Parts: sequence; C-alpha cells; structure tokens
Amino acid sequence: MNRIPVIAANWKMNLNRDDAKKLAASIAQIADSRVDREFIVFPGFLTISDVHEIITGTTISLGGQNLHYEESGAFTGEISALQLKDSGCSHVLVGHSERRHYFKENYETVNRKVHRALQDGLKVMLCVGESLEEREQTITEMVVVDQLESALARIALKNLKNMYIAYEPIWAIGTGKNATPEDANHVHQIIRKTISRLFNEKVADEMRILYGGSVKGENITELMQQEHIDGVLVGGASLKPESFASIMDYK
Ligand code: PEP
Repeated sequence: MNRIPVIAANWKMNLNRDDAKKLAASIAQIADSRVDREFIVFPGFLTISDVHEIITGTTISLGGQNLHYEESGAFTGEISALQLKDSGCSHVLVGHSERRHYFKENYETVNRKVHRALQDGLKVMLCVGESLEEREQTITEMVVVDQLESALARIALKNLKNMYIAYEPIWAIGTGKNATPEDANHVHQIIRKTISRLFNEKVADEMRILYGGSVKGENITELMQQEHIDGVLVGGASLKPESFASIMDYK
C-alpha cells in the first residue's frame, strides 16, 4: 500500500507571534519543494491566525492542538471545532498524552472530542501510547488497543478517511529516548490490525499511522523505512528551522 508520508509539527505552548511567523515562513519554503509528502503544523491557539496567513497558498495544513467536545456555549477558556475552522484549521490533535496526563482527559472525553471534530469537519490526529510503567509491565499492546477502541467507539466507517493515528510512547516524548524503529513498527502493526478488526482491512491499509517521541533528523530515515510507519509527529525538534528542515527533507 502506497501511503503518502505525513510530517507533523506540534509546537505545544511555545513561540510568540513573531517567532511562529518566522518558523512558518521557513517551513513553507521547504514544503514547496517536497510535494511528495504531507505537512501539518499545530501552533498554539494565539498564533494560529498569523501562521494561517503565512502558509496560505502552500501545501501545509494547519491544526489546533485541542478542542472542546461541545459545539459552543458557556465553557470559559475553551476552543470549539468551528472556531478552529474559522481560523483556518483543517486538522486537530486529540488525546495527546499531555492532555490525558496533565488535564485528566479520559477515554470518554477523548471519544467525545473525536466525534465533535469529525462532525464539524476537522480531520483528527488521534494520539495513543503507553507510559513507562505500562511498558515495563509489558502491557503496551493492551493499553494501545484500549485507547483505540474507546476513542473510536461509535465512529462511522466513512469518517476513518479523515483520521490519522499517532503512536507516541509517553516515555519517549521530550525525553531524548525513542523506541527502536522495529519496536515502533511492531506497535504500528498492532494499531493497523486493530483498525482492521474494528472497521475493515481497506481502511486499515489506508490509515496513516505516525510515530512520535524524540524524532529528529538523525533518526527519521530509519523510522520511515519501517513498513507500518507512515509519518512522524514532532515536538521539540519542530521548534527550530534547521532541525525541522532536516526532518522535512529526510531521504
Ligand atoms: C509530542 O509531544 O507530540 C512529541 C512527539 O514531542 P517530542 O518530539 O519533543 O518528543
């Protein structure tokens, strides 16, 4: 199956407007010369409009790092799917481990967010992954399958084309440690089998499954050579033009 590679940048709670614009401009230049891959950038909410202005007319897609599961209403401090779309977003991250851990997002919240985003026309990048403790207890597979089953509950088959899965082992995020390409590929294969079991083989084959966790220029090529790794979700190394350029431009 020929799946178009996806390179996504999660800027988290970093960069002021000026820095975000500069970084977006440098990413835009590289994207123009790499039409064989898909690029998505997830800036902080307050820089989304600035980044949107810079990347309009390029092949880069824009995404929010989070959304609320209600359409609108009295939810002080929250952001809706429709507001993200209105600011130029086509994508949204759901279930990032930092949201699950620091903001106590549970299986039900994540599932409701997936439903809301799809219903309001956003493409969803659903994050799953085990903690170090779970890995040491050798329950990675069980945890990841549970996360998938709960997040995808009652999602219609036709919506799967608007989803990506990002496998991000929590112990590898921002720590400099990363799963070996073979280990990551093994979990990606489990994810693909789970999608196949929950939906069908065709959508599982087509699903882009990204790896995230200390991805950098030095390890991306080996990761992307794995059969089931179709892209990367990058945090720290996406914040500097040179380091992200080496990832976007991997051979
Ligand atoms: C992330 O948080 O999505 C991530 C992968 O971060 P890092 O690349 O810094 O490990």
